[in-house]
Amino acid sequence: MTETTFTPRVFSGIQPSGNLHLGNYLGALKRFVDWQDKDMETIYCMVDLHAITVWQDPNDLKKATRELCAGFIAAGLDPEKSILINQSQVPEHAQLAWVFNCVARMGWMQRMTQWKDKAGKNQQNASLGLLAYPSLMAADILIYHATHVPVGEDQKQHLELTRDIAAKFNHDYGVDYFPMTEPVIEGAATRVMSLRDGSKKMSKSDPSDASRINLTDDADTIAKKIRKAKTDPEALPSEAKGLEERPEARNLVNIYAALAEQTVDQVLADVGGRQFSEFKPMLADLAVSKMAPISTEMARLMGEQDEIDRILSRGSERAREITAPILRKTYDIIGMVGPVSL
Ligand code: ATP
Ligand code: MG
Repeated sequence: MTETTFTPRVFSGIQPSGNLHLGNYLGALKRFVDWQDKDMETIYCMVDLHAITVWQDPNDLKKATRELCAGFIAAGLDPEKSILINQSQVPEHAQLAWVFNCVARMGWMQRMTQWKDKAGKNQQNASLGLLAYPSLMAADILIYHATHVPVGEDQKQHLELTRDIAAKFNHDYGVDYFPMTEPVIEGAATRVMSLRDGSKKMSKSDPSDASRINLTDDADTIAKKIRKAKTDPEALPSEAKGLEERPEARNLVNIYAALAEQTVDQVLADVGGRQFSEFKPMLADLAVSKMAPISTEMARLMGEQDEIDRILSRGSERAREITAPILRKTYDIIGMVGPVSL
């Protein structure tokens, strides 16, 4: 079975775990906006049930969910064009995740890089939810029969697992019910690295605030973080090949290219030969010019909490028109006795 038998539909999500950052913007949010403007149905989700796989302060979580919704809109998502939802308001996500928990195998989950990174050496004390995370993610996607999922590079493995779950479900029940979803990992910044350590990805959960540029940072903070970003003493090369063994330099050039909507080679054709003392202020100016309007708009929207809550409840109503029939049909396939009209 191929995805061509399914209506093309785009789904993706971001955790409201605070500190929305430049990596989320370039790797995910900006791509979400690109897809919204193509002729396809787009559904974007604040995945609060994923966020609680590690403990969250309840008040902070509520604030972070609304702030994420503000970030979606400030980055250019239109609640009329895209369906914007908070995951916990669409119960079919968690219901399908339970079915998938019974389809997926323990070994699949234990092999996931994110599980190993986040659980660390203390796996026995990690939550069961953190291990089962990819099964809920598969449900998020497949409860819409989504065919395309724009994500950053770190989510590639989870997307492969989503296909494995869909394939095993289809095989176990002798159906062609769930599509083989395509990960869409595009652009110059599919993996933005920490500003402090070129071997670690920029993350919301990194304890160092200096490691990332937050969407809520003001112009001075952005400029300061870029000035302090780790680099090497060499000048910039004039071709991408010259960045191969230079992770920090490559990261800053990738960020510049993604913000300027140019290729890395185009950027290096302009800045090759320059020192970081010259390049960093250029990058800071560019970052401020692209990010400051987003953070200003986010702050304004955060003053309109009722409006945000209305957008989310309207989004969940629209979403459930898709998810309720897909869950009912899934239950029927696996042998649950349900309502007679399918
Ligand atoms: P956490 O540390 O809590 O896992 P996160 O920064 O990884 O947070 P997520 O909510 O897990 O953010 O991911 C949301 C989206 O942003 C995903 O599509 C993910 O691939 C993308 N993303 C996350 N970090 C980066 C990054 N450094 N570069 C590019 N894309 C990223
Ligand atoms: Mg993550």
